[in-house]
Amino acid sequence: MGAEIIDGKAVAANLRRDVAARVAELKASYGIQPGLAVVLVGNDPASEVYVGSKGRSTVEAGMRSFEYRLPDTTTQAELLAVIARLNADDSVDGILVQLPLPKQIDSTVVLQAVDPAKDVDGFHPINVGRVATGAGGIVPCTPYGSLLLIKSLNRPLVGLDALIVGRSNIVGKPMVQLLLGEQCTVTVAHSKTRNLPWHCRQADILVAAVGRPEMIRGDWIKPGAIVIDVGINRLPPEAGGKSRLVGDVAFEEARAVAGAITPVPGGVGPMTIACLLHNTLQAARERRAR
Ligand code: NDP
Repeated sequence: MGAEIIDGKAVAANLRRDVAARVAELKASYGIQPGLAVVLVGNDPASEVYVGSKGRSTVEAGMRSFEYRLPDTTTQAELLAVIARLNADDSVDGILVQLPLPKQIDSTVVLQAVDPAKDVDGFHPINVGRVATGAGGIVPCTPYGSLLLIKSLNRPLVGLDALIVGRSNIVGKPMVQLLLGEQCTVTVAHSKTRNLPWHCRQADILVAAVGRPEMIRGDWIKPGAIVIDVGINRLPPEAGGKSRLVGDVAFEEARAVAGAITPVPGGVGPMTIACLLHNTLQAARERRAR
């Protein structure tokens, strides 16, 4: 029997409906309409698509959407001035600076300039620290979405062995905290890990966040494992065909062995924007409660 396919589109749609209902309640009870500001510097085509889609989803959830499109010649000081204005603007509950930024701008400096209370990406060190110490905080969207997909299976997670392949600040490291929070025993693999297939075979939960097409093969998967494929890799078109998106896991091989698996596309991807909306609502409630 093949793996259960975890339907990220359906789980994301539920979350978006839930956020929209809670936004409507906030408006009706307190006259508060959460607002999300997205800042795009330059004209990276993929970033343009993400920003457009974030704006539409924000409005669909009943929130206000503010977009700031700055030229790719923008200096760091100019960008910091925009962020300072958004930090001070009471109608803005969430600020998202679309990455990557042009090379004249240090993204670490910029991300640290965002008010932690409005940091809906969860990248500010204050939020990273809060999440790591279990003291609340805003959780980065992609790992949070991955956790919700795991939880959508309604299986007990306590004591399971989890392997996260990838240790980026955006996905791998926050995923460690989230799975530790679920009482898993967590191992992290990276480019210097020896014998990655062996580590994968021990994992009851395998989260792949690498950025290498179909690197994780079916015979690396423990039978019955939960496999979350965060990777998004575009393969060039084969003779006469179209380009194709694949994950970091060889899906067809892995689904024959795994207990549950996310597809690419249609798995983790749709969760990221849904979690951004969730985080904006959380930021609005917490900031305005203060
Ligand atoms: P990074 O490039 O920041 O990190 C990749 C990680 O993979 C690094 O820790 C690196 O190790 C590790 N790695 C690289 N090669 C190997 C290898 N051969 N074996 C084991 N580990 C390896 O990527 P991100 O975390 O930002 O993204 C990962 C993937 O997730 C990408 O495909 C990206 O497109 C996708 N993504 C998807 C999102 C979504 O919404 N679904 C959102 C964000 C990302 P080391 O640290 O040693 O270099």
